[in-house]
Formats: sequence, C-alpha cells, structure tokens
Amino acid sequence: MNREETLVANFQNVRQALLSACQRSGRDPKEITLLAVTKYAKDQDVLTLLQKGLIVHVGESRVQQAQARWEKPEFARFHTVKHFIGHLQKNKAAKAAELFDFIDSLDNFDTALALEKHVPQGKTLRALVQVKLTDKETQSGLPLEEARQLARRLKTLQRVRVCGYMAIAPQGADETRLRQLFRPLKQAFDEDFKSLPEKYLSLGMSADFETAVEEGSSLPRIGSKLFAENLEGL
Ligand SMILES: *Cc1c(COP(=O)(O)O)cnc(C)c1O
Repeated sequence: MNREETLVANFQNVRQALLSACQRSGRDPKEITLLAVTKYAKDQDVLTLLQKGLIVHVGESRVQQAQARWEKPEFARFHTVKHFIGHLQKNKAAKAAELFDFIDSLDNFDTALALEKHVPQGKTLRALVQVKLTDKETQSGLPLEEARQLARRLKTLQRVRVCGYMAIAPQGADETRLRQLFRPLKQAFDEDFKSLPEKYLSLGMSADFETAVEEGSSLPRIGSKLFAENLEGL
C-alpha cells in the first residue's frame, strides 16, 4: 500500500470500529463526530484526508503550530471545524479565539474571560470544560464537581458558549476502570446540558475510543490510529 491507501485504510478501520461500538451499545452513529487529531500528523497526510472529504473536525494542541498550518492557503480552502485540545495559556487566548471554533480543554474562568474578550464579532466560540479523571498532579482539567461549577459560571458568557465536557483517561487503564471513570461524567453531562440542543461529550483517544463511545462519548479524539507511520503495536 502507498501512503494514501494506508491513510484511507486507517480511516475506514476507525470508522468501522466506531460503527461496531455504536451497534454494541445501541447508539445511532449520527450522534458521533470524529475529531481527527492532527497535532503530530504531517501536512501531506492531513491534506490527503481533507481532499478525500473524510475529515471535517480537526484537533490541534498548540496555538502557534495550528496557526502556521491552518492559515496556509492549501489548508484554509477546506471547510474545517478547528478544535483546540491542549493546555491554553491565557496569553494565547486572543489568537486562539480567532483561529479555533472550539476550545475543548477549558479549565478556568480567567482564560474564558480572555477568550470572551477576543472572540470576533458575530462568531460563537464553543467550549468544553476539561474534567480530570484521576488525582494525578500532572493531569490537567478540574475534578468533576469543580468542572460542573465552572460550566455553570460559563453559561453567563455571550460569545463563549459552553456545550459539554472533555476528559482524558489515564494511560493503560483497563476496560472496567475506563467504564468506572467515564460513567459519572456521562451522568453529570446528561444532567448539566439536558436542555442544550448542541452538546458534546468528548471521551476516548486511539487506545480507548471504542469503550468511550459505548459509554456515551459523542466526540472521540483520534490521532495515532489515523496518522501513525506504523500502526503495529498501537
Ligand atoms: C494527542 C491527543 C489526542 C490523540 O491521541 P491519540 O492517542 O494519538 O489518538 C487526543 N486528545 C488529546 C487531548 C490529545 O492531546
């Protein structure tokens, strides 16, 4: 297989796995939006999937790197929905508010205010609050109760529109543990965003997206399973 064929095959495998997870859990595949995490991908690989019309939602974790890529004319001509999934420093908020459609990793009100101030007129910046699933210091995000409080507070903003939660599961967690971690979050999400027509629960990465979708994720974030040079061992 050449690179293009490999990328298409990777995509089909991910799509098939998503469909199977929906089937096992009785979910409608239309509820799921695939977020293609392009942060480590080569420009040409991303362009290949864009040209084939396979991806629309894309995720980047660095503001400057995202800007350098997505402002290039060959990228800018595609319709994409751009998500920021990394740790957002307040001094990057102005640029992020311009460049991105979603901030999926919001974890403090100050940054939200900085974003609110810089969202261009007429634009709505969607935001997910990042929830921390373990008490490891190195994990970003907020413990669930604090995340829920922040989500309530964010509802007062005009241009930043809070519409769900995002979380990263600990590496190597087995399926039982993953379900234990995902379930309370799904329950909180259902309660807190009940009346909102457009909402997202972003759980699952390459290693755990099937379990995450079975547990209610609507925005799995997938990087290496789409773009890795060598998928063996993943
Ligand atoms: C890098 C990253 C991903 C994608 O991870 P893969 O394991 O490569 O699919 C998903 N979510 C976040 C927040 C990331 O930083």
